[in-house]
Amino acid sequence: MTKERMNDVNNNPVVFPCENLTADENGHLLFVGYDTAALAETYGTPLYLLDDARIRHNCRVYLDAFKKYYPEGSLPLYASKANACKQVYRIMREEGMGIDVVSIGEIYTAKAAGFDLSKAFFHGNNKTDADIAYAMDCGVGCFVADNAEEILAIEAAAKQRGICQKVLLRLTPGIDTHTYAAVNTGKVDSKFGNAIATGQAEAITKLALLQPHVDLRGFHCHIGSQVFTEDVFERAAVIMIDFMADLRDTLGYTAAVLNLGGGYGVRYVDTDPYLDIAQKIHAVSDVLKAACEARAFPVPTIHMEPGRSIVADAGLTLYTVGAVKQIPGYKNYVSVDGGMTDNPRFALYGSKYTCVAATRLTEARVFPASLVGRCCESGDILQENVPFPSTIHRGDLVAVCTTGAYNYAMSSNYNRIGRPATVLLTAEGPQVAIRRETPEDMARLDV
Ligand SMILES: *Cc1c(COP(=O)(O)O)cnc(C)c1O
Repeated sequence: MTKERMNDVNNNPVVFPCENLTADENGHLLFVGYDTAALAETYGTPLYLLDDARIRHNCRVYLDAFKKYYPEGSLPLYASKANACKQVYRIMREEGMGIDVVSIGEIYTAKAAGFDLSKAFFHGNNKTDADIAYAMDCGVGCFVADNAEEILAIEAAAKQRGICQKVLLRLTPGIDTHTYAAVNTGKVDSKFGNAIATGQAEAITKLALLQPHVDLRGFHCHIGSQVFTEDVFERAAVIMIDFMADLRDTLGYTAAVLNLGGGYGVRYVDTDPYLDIAQKIHAVSDVLKAACEARAFPVPTIHMEPGRSIVADAGLTLYTVGAVKQIPGYKNYVSVDGGMTDNPRFALYGSKYTCVAATRLTEARVFPASLVGRCCESGDILQENVPFPSTIHRGDLVAVCTTGAYNYAMSSNYNRIGRPATVLLTAEGPQVAIRRETPEDMARLDV
């Protein structure tokens, strides 16, 4: 495919954000080598696709880097809120990842997929008594406690069961990542965690250490999401190690575990930078070990919790165009058979995506349009200003790339629109991982 034939109005060629996206000589988009038009024909649209090999590759980047740079003890945890279904949990089990879970639904699904829950970490800033009981009864390995009420609730539930529950405490190291406010969680005024700067982190540590059925293993922090260039993980590591060394000096408590959270960025559009995650992990490891040495603190077991960077570029969504509207002097619209129900991220955060007419990649992209969904909501926009070919019409296929994270996971049944199917593309061929929701599914809870 020549670049000239794919140019948009500004003469920019389509550059795909990930190497699992290519084009054939007919101008069809291939995903993992599969013709997207053939997949749409077989499985219908809207349709989520997931690239099994890419998910495994992304896991191995973390697993290999952790083995290499933290041989003292480490485990990457998949933040399963990014995409929680049985097939993804099976992949995590097979690859040897740990997981983060945040709800009974995620715990149930991981268990149903045969995931060893001793490698699960239970997050959230408001775990109900029912959540805590369910997680303990399922044998979730470690709770990441957010506040004093939760420590006391964990203590009570553990005492009742005659167990000692492993716990990490969530802290806020006071770092601002300059990403979107909604995904920026490491600041002092966050709803999550306990600020080191205000003394609350130390206070909650003391409280946890007083509980006979709480086994305080260490600390957790999560700075934010879609982090690329800033050295926020290094800065967080130094602040956390300093805090841990201070506690050793003042309370005589030596924490054994440090979880640095998730958040490495992924490429949604070709202007997003490439991130060498293995190299970033190396850099954080060097800084962390130097901080330990400076305080003569034993290097703790290290966790990180990537979500997006494990599954985002393993995903793609296919839609069928229903209408093309031109409003002369104003703007153009391309309406598709999905929308904010299967991908609310543009509506929520204005997130960027690479969007293409999946069977017209040979045509010049001279028709800028808003790519919109079918919901009764004018904010139902998938992307603004997408350069489409002028021939685009009803029945055409549109692909939105890099939708493996926070798409299905954030989908809804607004307007009683059923969720699309997810098809996992594996070495053995395509497999339905989640079937399409039917009208009966929509009404299954109604009495
Ligand atoms: C969301 C979240 C993650 C994963 O973030 P990504 O940006 O998807 O890597 C990890 N840890 C916690 C506590 C989170 O809330």
